[in-house]
Amino acid sequence: MKPIGVFGGTFDPVHYGHLRSAFEMLQALRFDEVRFIPCGDPPHRGVTYASAQERLRLVQLAIEGQEGFIADDRELRRDGPSYTVDTLTSLREEFPDRSLGLIVGMDAFLGLPGWHRWDEILEIAHIVVAHRPGWKAPDIGVLGELISEHGTHRVDDLHSMKNGRVHIHAVTQLEIASTEIRDLIAAGRDPRFLMPDQVRDAILDMKIY
Ligand code: ATP
Repeated sequence: MKPIGVFGGTFDPVHYGHLRSAFEMLQALRFDEVRFIPCGDPPHRGVTYASAQERLRLVQLAIEGQEGFIADDRELRRDGPSYTVDTLTSLREEFPDRSLGLIVGMDAFLGLPGWHRWDEILEIAHIVVAHRPGWKAPDIGVLGELISEHGTHRVDDLHSMKNGRVHIHAVTQLEIASTEIRDLIAAGRDPRFLMPDQVRDAILDMKIY
Protein backbone atom coordinates (compact mmCIF):
# COMPACT_ATOMS: atom_id res chain seq x y z
CA MET A 1 0.00 0.00 0.00
CA LYS A 2 1.19 3.48 -0.80
CA PRO A 3 2.44 5.84 1.95
CA ILE A 4 0.33 8.41 3.73
CA GLY A 5 1.80 11.92 3.68
CA VAL A 6 1.43 13.80 6.96
CA PHE A 7 1.61 17.56 6.55
CA GLY A 8 1.33 19.51 9.79
CA GLY A 9 1.48 23.25 10.14
CA THR A 10 -0.17 26.23 11.70
CA PHE A 11 -1.64 27.10 8.29
CA ASP A 12 -2.37 30.61 9.53
CA PRO A 13 -3.44 30.88 6.70
CA VAL A 14 -2.83 28.07 4.20
CA HIS A 15 -1.29 29.29 0.90
CA TYR A 16 0.01 28.08 -2.45
CA GLY A 17 3.47 27.37 -0.98
CA HIS A 18 1.88 24.67 1.19
CA LEU A 19 -0.48 23.40 -1.49
CA ARG A 20 2.04 23.15 -4.31
CA SER A 21 4.66 21.39 -2.12
CA ALA A 22 2.10 18.88 -0.90
CA PHE A 23 0.84 18.26 -4.44
CA GLU A 24 4.34 17.68 -5.80
CA MET A 25 5.01 15.24 -2.94
CA LEU A 26 1.73 13.43 -3.60
CA GLN A 27 2.63 12.92 -7.23
CA ALA A 28 6.40 12.47 -7.21
CA LEU A 29 6.57 10.25 -4.11
CA ARG A 30 3.46 8.35 -5.14
CA PHE A 31 1.67 8.96 -1.85
CA ASP A 32 -1.82 7.58 -1.50
CA GLU A 33 -2.96 10.73 0.25
CA VAL A 34 -1.63 13.81 2.01
CA ARG A 35 -3.25 14.71 5.32
CA PHE A 36 -3.17 18.41 6.16
CA ILE A 37 -3.16 18.58 9.94
CA PRO A 38 -3.63 22.08 11.35
CA CYS A 39 -1.87 22.51 14.64
CA GLY A 40 -4.36 22.72 17.51
CA ASP A 41 -2.19 24.43 20.10
CA PRO A 42 1.25 25.15 18.62
CA PRO A 43 3.89 24.53 21.29
CA HIS A 44 6.57 26.63 19.57
CA ARG A 45 4.54 29.62 18.55
CA GLY A 46 2.51 30.78 21.51
CA VAL A 47 -0.34 32.41 19.62
CA THR A 48 -2.01 31.93 16.30
CA TYR A 49 -3.98 34.75 14.70
CA ALA A 50 -6.91 32.74 13.36
CA SER A 51 -8.54 30.20 15.69
CA ALA A 52 -7.89 26.51 15.19
CA GLN A 53 -11.41 26.08 13.76
CA GLU A 54 -10.88 28.94 11.31
CA ARG A 55 -7.51 27.56 10.19
CA LEU A 56 -9.06 24.13 9.69
CA ARG A 57 -11.93 25.66 7.70
CA LEU A 58 -9.48 27.48 5.42
CA VAL A 59 -7.59 24.22 4.81
CA GLN A 60 -10.87 22.46 3.99
CA LEU A 61 -11.74 25.18 1.47
CA ALA A 62 -8.22 25.12 -0.01
CA ILE A 63 -8.17 21.39 -0.75
CA GLU A 64 -11.80 20.96 -1.80
CA GLY A 65 -12.03 18.78 -4.89
CA GLN A 66 -8.37 17.68 -4.87
CA GLU A 67 -8.27 13.92 -4.84
CA GLY A 68 -5.82 12.60 -2.26
CA PHE A 69 -5.85 15.73 -0.10
CA ILE A 70 -7.49 15.29 3.31
CA ALA A 71 -8.10 17.81 6.11
CA ASP A 72 -7.40 15.98 9.36
CA ASP A 73 -8.66 17.62 12.56
CA ARG A 74 -7.05 15.27 15.09
CA GLU A 75 -4.96 18.00 16.73
CA LEU A 76 -8.08 20.06 17.34
CA ARG A 77 -9.67 17.14 19.16
CA ARG A 78 -6.75 16.76 21.57
CA ASP A 79 -6.10 18.94 24.63
CA GLY A 80 -2.71 20.39 25.47
CA PRO A 81 0.19 21.34 23.19
CA SER A 82 0.08 19.68 19.76
CA TYR A 83 3.29 17.72 19.60
CA THR A 84 4.06 16.08 16.27
CA VAL A 85 5.24 12.90 17.97
CA ASP A 86 1.76 12.48 19.54
CA THR A 87 0.05 13.13 16.21
CA LEU A 88 2.21 10.51 14.53
CA THR A 89 1.52 8.05 17.36
CA SER A 90 -2.19 8.53 16.86
CA LEU A 91 -1.85 8.00 13.09
CA ARG A 92 0.25 4.90 13.70
CA GLU A 93 -2.52 3.49 15.94
CA GLU A 94 -5.08 4.19 13.23
CA PHE A 95 -2.91 2.87 10.37
CA PRO A 96 -0.68 0.17 11.92
CA ASP A 97 0.46 -1.26 8.59
CA ARG A 98 0.93 1.84 6.49
CA SER A 99 4.04 3.79 5.65
CA LEU A 100 3.82 7.31 7.07
CA GLY A 101 5.79 10.23 5.61
CA LEU A 102 6.04 13.35 7.73
CA ILE A 103 6.36 16.27 5.30
CA VAL A 104 8.34 19.26 6.54
CA GLY A 105 9.73 22.33 4.83
CA MET A 106 13.43 23.03 5.14
CA ASP A 107 12.90 25.69 7.83
CA ALA A 108 10.96 23.19 9.93
CA PHE A 109 13.56 20.45 9.37
CA LEU A 110 16.38 22.69 10.57
CA GLY A 111 14.45 23.23 13.81
CA LEU A 112 13.72 19.52 14.30
CA PRO A 113 16.24 18.96 17.12
CA GLY A 114 14.17 21.38 19.23
CA TRP A 115 10.96 19.37 18.89
CA HIS A 116 9.48 17.42 21.78
CA ARG A 117 10.80 13.80 21.66
CA TRP A 118 12.04 14.41 18.13
CA ASP A 119 14.36 11.41 18.27
CA GLU A 120 11.32 9.10 18.38
CA ILE A 121 9.83 10.39 15.14
CA LEU A 122 11.73 8.02 12.83
CA GLU A 123 10.53 5.08 14.93
CA ILE A 124 7.03 5.98 13.77
CA ALA A 125 7.37 7.65 10.36
CA HIS A 126 9.70 8.69 7.58
CA ILE A 127 10.66 12.35 7.32
CA VAL A 128 10.30 13.92 3.90
CA VAL A 129 11.96 17.31 3.54
CA ALA A 130 10.90 19.79 0.88
CA HIS A 131 13.96 21.72 -0.21
CA ARG A 132 14.92 24.35 -2.72
CA PRO A 133 16.59 23.11 -5.86
CA GLY A 134 20.33 23.56 -5.40
CA TRP A 135 20.20 23.51 -1.60
CA LYS A 136 22.82 21.36 0.11
CA ALA A 137 21.76 19.10 2.98
CA PRO A 138 23.47 19.73 6.35
CA ASP A 139 26.41 17.34 6.60
CA ILE A 140 27.51 18.17 10.11
CA GLY A 141 25.82 18.26 13.50
CA VAL A 142 22.89 16.22 14.63
CA LEU A 143 20.95 16.68 11.37
CA GLY A 144 24.03 15.75 9.32
CA GLU A 145 24.26 12.52 11.33
CA LEU A 146 20.55 11.88 10.92
CA ILE A 147 20.87 12.21 7.14
CA SER A 148 23.98 10.06 6.92
CA GLU A 149 22.39 7.30 9.01
CA HIS A 150 18.84 7.42 7.68
CA GLY A 151 18.95 9.35 4.40
CA THR A 152 17.74 7.75 1.20
CA HIS A 153 17.38 8.96 -2.38
CA ARG A 154 15.13 6.05 -3.25
CA VAL A 155 11.41 6.79 -3.29
CA ASP A 156 10.82 3.03 -3.20
CA ASP A 157 12.28 2.91 0.34
CA LEU A 158 9.37 5.08 1.49
CA HIS A 159 7.05 2.41 0.12
CA SER A 160 8.83 -0.73 1.26
CA MET A 161 9.40 0.44 4.84
CA LYS A 162 6.84 1.99 7.20
CA ASN A 163 9.22 4.43 8.92
CA GLY A 164 12.86 5.24 9.57
CA ARG A 165 14.09 7.05 6.44
CA VAL A 166 14.86 10.69 5.68
CA HIS A 167 14.20 11.70 2.11
CA ILE A 168 15.01 15.13 0.74
CA HIS A 169 12.92 16.14 -2.21
CA ALA A 170 13.17 19.23 -4.41
CA VAL A 171 9.93 21.12 -4.86
CA THR A 172 9.15 24.26 -6.82
CA GLN A 173 10.07 27.08 -4.53
CA LEU A 174 7.31 29.57 -3.95
CA GLU A 175 8.45 32.29 -1.61
CA ILE A 176 5.13 32.71 0.14
CA ALA A 177 4.81 32.85 3.93
CA SER A 178 1.69 33.08 6.10
CA THR A 179 3.33 35.88 8.10
CA GLU A 180 3.60 38.04 5.00
CA ILE A 181 0.01 37.30 4.03
CA ARG A 182 -1.24 38.35 7.48
CA ASP A 183 0.79 41.57 7.31
CA LEU A 184 -0.50 42.30 3.84
CA ILE A 185 -4.15 41.84 4.89
CA ALA A 186 -3.60 43.92 8.02
CA ALA A 187 -2.27 46.68 5.77
CA GLY A 188 -5.55 46.57 3.80
CA ARG A 189 -4.10 44.85 0.73
CA ASP A 190 -5.54 41.92 -1.20
CA PRO A 191 -3.97 38.42 -0.84
CA ARG A 192 -5.40 37.27 -4.20
CA PHE A 193 -3.17 34.85 -6.16
CA LEU A 194 -1.19 33.81 -3.07
CA MET A 195 -3.87 31.25 -2.18
CA PRO A 196 -7.00 29.76 -3.77
CA ASP A 197 -9.80 32.31 -4.29
CA GLN A 198 -12.16 30.47 -1.94
CA VAL A 199 -9.61 30.83 0.89
CA ARG A 200 -9.07 34.49 0.11
CA ASP A 201 -12.83 35.13 0.00
CA ALA A 202 -13.43 33.36 3.33
CA ILE A 203 -10.62 35.32 5.01
CA LEU A 204 -12.07 38.61 3.84
CA ASP A 205 -15.69 37.59 4.66
CA MET A 206 -14.87 36.31 8.12
CA LYS A 207 -12.59 39.30 8.73
CA ILE A 208 -9.76 37.06 9.88
CA TYR A 209 -6.37 38.89 10.25
P1 ATP B 1 4.45 31.54 9.19
O1 ATP B 1 4.87 32.59 8.20
O2 ATP B 1 3.24 31.95 10.00
O3 ATP B 1 5.59 31.01 10.01
P2 ATP B 1 4.43 29.44 7.11
O4 ATP B 1 4.00 30.10 5.84
O5 ATP B 1 5.89 29.14 7.28
O6 ATP B 1 3.88 30.30 8.36
P3 ATP B 1 3.48 27.02 8.45
O7 ATP B 1 2.05 26.73 8.64
O8 ATP B 1 4.28 27.46 9.62
O9 ATP B 1 3.54 28.15 7.28
O10 ATP B 1 4.21 25.85 7.72
C1 ATP B 1 3.76 24.52 7.67
C2 ATP B 1 4.77 23.70 6.89
O11 ATP B 1 4.81 24.17 5.54
C3 ATP B 1 6.20 23.78 7.41
O12 ATP B 1 6.78 22.49 7.30
C4 ATP B 1 6.86 24.77 6.47
O13 ATP B 1 8.25 24.51 6.35
C5 ATP B 1 6.15 24.50 5.17
N1 ATP B 1 6.06 25.69 4.32
C6 ATP B 1 5.65 26.92 4.65
N2 ATP B 1 5.71 27.78 3.62
C7 ATP B 1 6.18 27.06 2.57
C8 ATP B 1 6.48 27.38 1.18
N3 ATP B 1 6.31 28.61 0.69
N4 ATP B 1 6.95 26.40 0.41
C9 ATP B 1 7.14 25.16 0.92
N5 ATP B 1 6.88 24.77 2.20
C10 ATP B 1 6.41 25.72 3.01
